[in-house]
Amino acid sequence: PKFVFVTGGVMSGLGKGITAASTGRLLANAGFDVTAVKIDPYLNVDAGTMNPYQHGEVYVLNDGGEVDLDLGNYERFLDADMSFDQNITTGKLYKNVIEKERSGDYLGKTVQIIPHITDDIKRRVREAAAGHDVCLIEVGGTVGDIEGGPYYEAIRQFSHEENDEDVLLAHVTLVPYSKNGEQKTKPTQHSVKELRSIGLQPDIVVGRCEDELDPETKEKIALFCDVPEDAVFSNPDVEDIYHVPLMVEGEGLDEYVMDELGIAGRALPADER
Ligand code: ADP
Repeated sequence: PKFVFVTGGVMSGLGKGITAASTGRLLANAGFDVTAVKIDPYLNVDAGTMNPYQHGEVYVLNDGGEVDLDLGNYERFLDADMSFDQNITTGKLYKNVIEKERSGDYLGKTVQIIPHITDDIKRRVREAAAGHDVCLIEVGGTVGDIEGGPYYEAIRQFSHEENDEDVLLAHVTLVPYSKNGEQKTKPTQHSVKELRSIGLQPDIVVGRCEDELDPETKEKIALFCDVPEDAVFSNPDVEDIYHVPLMVEGEGLDEYVMDELGIAGRALPADER
C-alpha cells in the first residue's frame, strides 16, 4: 500500500482531519481503495472516557470501538467502515507494551519508547493499511507537542523502511492575516522547521487560511519550507465542510498526491470496484 501521513502545524483544530478525509474521498473517486488511521497522542486508551464538552462527540464504530469524531469524518467522507484498530492512542500503545513486558515477551530486554513503542506504532499502521491501496494516517495535535514525539520518530523510521514513492508527508498549517491584511507565512515556516529538526521534510504543505493563498504566499512557503511551488496548496474557509473535497480537487491536491505516489491513472474504473 501507499501511505500518506498528515501532520499539523501551529495549532490543532485547523482542519487536518477534514483535509485528509477530503483527499481520501477524491482518491476513492479515482477508484482506489482508501482507508485511514487516526493517531491520538493522549494517554486515554480510547475516547469513551473523555468529556464530550471538551472533546466533541464520542463516535461509536460498528465494532463497538469508542473513538474520536475524526474517525466518523473518515467513515462519512470515505463511505467505508473503520475499525477500533484504526484509532491509535498512546494509552493503547503503552497498555499493550506494558502487558507484554509483564508477561515476559521482551525476554529481559530494557523496554523503551524507541524501539518498543515506535515499533508498535509502525506495526499498527502497517496492519491497518494491509489490503488497501492507500492509507491516510493523521497525527493528532501539532508538531512539537511532547506527546507526539514517538509518533514523529516512528514516521521518520517508517519512511526509511518503505520505498520513497510509497510514503508521502503532508503538513497542514495555519496562514493567518496580519492587521494590515497580509498573509503571514512565519508560523508555517516555524512549524516546518520544527518538523525538519526531527528529521521530517514535508512533501506537501497545505495552508489553512480565511481565503486562498496568494501566489506570493505560496512562493514564500515553497522557498522557506523547501518544497516545490506546486506542492503548496490553499485550504480556505468554506461554509460547509462537505465542500472541502471539491475545493481540494480544484487545487489539484489529489492529482499531486497520485503523481507523487506514482499511481495516477492506475486505478480501476469505479464500476469495477
Ligand atoms: P484538526 O484535524 O486539525 O484538529 P478538523 O479537521 O477536525 O481539525 O477540523 C476542525 C474544525 O474546522 C471542524 O469543526 C471543521 O468543521 C472545521 N473546518 C475544517 N476545514 C475547514 C474549512 N476548509 N473551512 C471551514 N471550516 C473547516
